[in-house]
Amino acid sequence: MPNVHYFGHVPIGTNCALTIQELQGFNPAAIVFAVGAQGTKKVGLPGEDSKGVYSAKDFVYHYNLLPPFATRDFSIGRRIAIVGIGNVMVDIARWLMIDDPRHTAEEVIAIARRGPFEAKFDKKEFANIEQHLDRAGFQQELERIKDKLAAVGQDVSKLANDTFSVLSKPVNRIAGPGLLFRFLSSPKEIKAGPGGRIRSLTVTENTLVQEDGSVAAKAMDETGEIDVDTVIFAIGDVHDATLGIPTGASGYVTRHSTDPKQTSYEVFDPQKGQILDGIYVVGWARRASEGLVGIARHDAELGAEHVLEYLKRVPETDSRSPGQIRQYLEDKDVQVVNKPDVGYLGKVEEDEAKKQGLTYFKFNDDAAMLAAIQREKARAKSERAFIGLDTVPIPCLRPSIQLQCALPSEAAAISTSVDNLIRLLTQSRCIPVSEDNIEIALREALNNAVVHGNRGDPRRYVCIKCRCESGDISIAVSDEGEGFDLSKVPDPTAPGSIYSIHGRGIYLMKAFMDEVRFEHGGSVVWMRKRVFEAER
Ligand SMILES: Cc1cc2nc3c(=O)[nH]c(=O)nc-3n(C[C@H](O)[C@H](O)[C@H](O)COP(=O)(O)OP(=O)(O)OC[C@H]3O[C@@H](n4cnc5c(N)ncnc54)[C@H](O)[C@@H]3O)c2cc1C
Repeated sequence: MPNVHYFGHVPIGTNCALTIQELQGFNPAAIVFAVGAQGTKKVGLPGEDSKGVYSAKDFVYHYNLLPPFATRDFSIGRRIAIVGIGNVMVDIARWLMIDDPRHTAEEVIAIARRGPFEAKFDKKEFANIEQHLDRAGFQQELERIKDKLAAVGQDVSKLANDTFSVLSKPVNRIAGPGLLFRFLSSPKEIKAGPGGRIRSLTVTENTLVQEDGSVAAKAMDETGEIDVDTVIFAIGDVHDATLGIPTGASGYVTRHSTDPKQTSYEVFDPQKGQILDGIYVVGWARRASEGLVGIARHDAELGAEHVLEYLKRVPETDSRSPGQIRQYLEDKDVQVVNKPDVGYLGKVEEDEAKKQGLTYFKFNDDAAMLAAIQREKARAKSERAFIGLDTVPIPCLRPSIQLQCALPSEAAAISTSVDNLIRLLTQSRCIPVSEDNIEIALREALNNAVVHGNRGDPRRYVCIKCRCESGDISIAVSDEGEGFDLSKVPDPTAPGSIYSIHGRGIYLMKAFMDEVRFEHGGSVVWMRKRVFEAER
């Protein structure tokens, strides 16, 4: 994207390579923090620092091989408690019971402070692990709590129509670890055994009460003991307090507004009682409790509108140029990763996966990743030198391709065409191997042309014209249909439409390409993207 400069591998924060004060020293017109919710939520229980006690985020980052979590000890035992019963619990239980290559888990116990009717997971997600549910154990647990549920008007016999539709299906328990639930229980203390590893979790037993129209947990005087060797807290996410902007109980502090429609994205300093001019927070970072990609993205888009409005109001600043910023970071020995570097890394990881016969391969530590980028960069450079390209003037460094092809309006032809075109573009180095945005946009454009434009009529053809030149790629997809009125396509990011599929294709094309235009009444879509920056 023109005028967007990427400086990767530059952590910002009070103890990081770059502080916010240094960032402000670059004199930007505005700073937008879209840093997510990277903090580790602590519950404050006695024994919480024992071995084998993890936060869900850290644990997921570990098994997804994200540095630095990938190389830390996240050993699991045989009996694992997961505190919280939302989608993250389901993800983790699935990994423990199905995907973990070591298969050490024998029993996974999901612990909830309220009852089964308050489960927050999605039924479709739960279907992935329901065959592991220990039905006898589950019925026993329902029996244990049914009177407390009845006290707030909940009937366990209706559970199959509500959160646990698995109960309406025949028992189909598969071999392997069992999944149990422990309801109406809040963690109270963690007891460690020899070696400092957790040996049991003490829970406070709860009862249920009606409070402001919803069901709340109320602690009782009784406790219970659950023998486990691992506990994972999946109880929501929290912002990282070391970033360096004011934080409050529920996240980074933004300007308070009494009007609920007047969402605030500007960071507020409660001590000075004023906003921090030009400093914004968006996405998951602003709403740490709402961890869904669609919600974070929608929030960030609305936040960006606020920033654009702000930029219209303020005079231009004399900001440091990208070159000056790079120099500043290099002087501080920060190893900056740029966009081509990400491509080099993707290539090495892809090659390594092929070599090891794996579906994918990821480096699990920073140093190995940076070294791989340097090796691949050097290799690519010597390859270019070998075939004489280094003597060619800069504008010709990148290959140039122009092609045209057509496919019949059949769903099956879409994938083949996308795969063939992307393979050709990758192998001819018109696009880096890590580039998948173009593939997504092309797939959506072809899908729209085949399904909506040509209405799936196999006698009609979809034509693709593609040009790749000087690190830029443009693709035009045309169909033989009547076109459409762009203004009538609903915005899939509007509140209430986040999960709607109408308009999703156009939205994705616009999100993943730098420019998208509809021509000839909508029967031709033209898209352009800059894929390679000028190399240093
Ligand atoms: C365990 C787990 C499972 C989840 N499962 C799902 C799911 O199934 N479906 C779903 O929709 N959502 C899921 N989410 C939530 C989803 O990941 C977030 O809602 C979404 O990623 C938020 O997007 P974002 O861009 O605001 O923040 P992020 O995706 O977190 O991006 C923040 C970026 O900022 C960078 N960053 C952070 N701090 C700094 C710093 N100090 N300096 C420099 N860079 C920094 C990070 O490296 C990252 O690249 C899950 C979250 C977790 C923890």
